[in-house]
Amino acid sequence: MGPKVSADGAIRVENGGRRFALDPKGATAADYTFVSHAHVDHMHNPAEGERVIASAETKELAAERGYYLGDTTEKADGVELLDSGHILGSRAIRIDDEVYYTGDASGRERAFLGKCRTRQAKVLIMETTYGSPEYVFPQTATLVKEVNELIGQMFHRGRPVILMGYPLGKAQLLAYYFSSWEPLYYHESVYRMNMIHMRHGVPLKEGRPYDPDGGDRLPSGPWVMIAPMSRGRMAKLKKDCGAVTIAFSGWALGPGYRFSLGADYAFPLSDHCDYPELVKLVQAVSPETVYTTHGFAREFASDLRRMGFDARTLAPYQTSISEFAV
Ligand SMILES: [Zn+2]
Repeated sequence: MGPKVSADGAIRVENGGRRFALDPKGATAADYTFVSHAHVDHMHNPAEGERVIASAETKELAAERGYYLGDTTEKADGVELLDSGHILGSRAIRIDDEVYYTGDASGRERAFLGKCRTRQAKVLIMETTYGSPEYVFPQTATLVKEVNELIGQMFHRGRPVILMGYPLGKAQLLAYYFSSWEPLYYHESVYRMNMIHMRHGVPLKEGRPYDPDGGDRLPSGPWVMIAPMSRGRMAKLKKDCGAVTIAFSGWALGPGYRFSLGADYAFPLSDHCDYPELVKLVQAVSPETVYTTHGFAREFASDLRRMGFDARTLAPYQTSISEFAV
């Protein structure tokens, strides 16, 4: 009999008499629990005795964010972990040559991150955040060039610039791509994540930490800050310093995104696969059955069925289309 896949608050895989819980949202019973990466919508505090499979980087990043994964391992019988290219330490898992689960995955190399590595498997369980054909991301080099030009224009006018993205993952890519600007500030939540990246050999510029609650002051004149998305805090900096805000997310391809955030500019720099990359990923794994989760799960499963795959959603695992990683 082949693998059994189901979902509740976890993605559950049973194969060869062993039970796996993939990215559970709370402590759970299974022979193994897999934590794909350290975004909070993929983490939990395990119960005592839970055997957690996760990368060393994920364990360290999780602890910094208040999730203690215990004695994690990267090895178990019949289990292979593969770089999923999403953030530092993110992994996909292959179980017994039968099941391949992507976690969150990116289909392109960016700065210090590789792209999702694939293996063939009979069952593919995949994230489909941007699984709708209008989501085709531009080349990263083109985006970086446009943003550098924009920052240059703002500096010329003496205006500070705030680059906004998730404090883990996106913020470090921004730190890498836009490190040539001086002075460079990091919001304290970004600074803490940067430190862990640097300990793992990622060459980020040291920069200056900025804690809005710690009384830190900013100079007048232009500067660049890398900060999390936060409407209220950034509005205050816009008002006090005349700062220009630029948001980074794959959702920026949608027309309402910039307005919903109250950002001055938005660019579609993403840590996920775009639609063509999702299709390519399915073709590379060459599965008999596909289970989709997150974002356009239903629509993408329907597209896959039109392409001749047996595909369905793992709806019980998904909470909402706007479930953003942080
Ligand atoms: Zn994520």
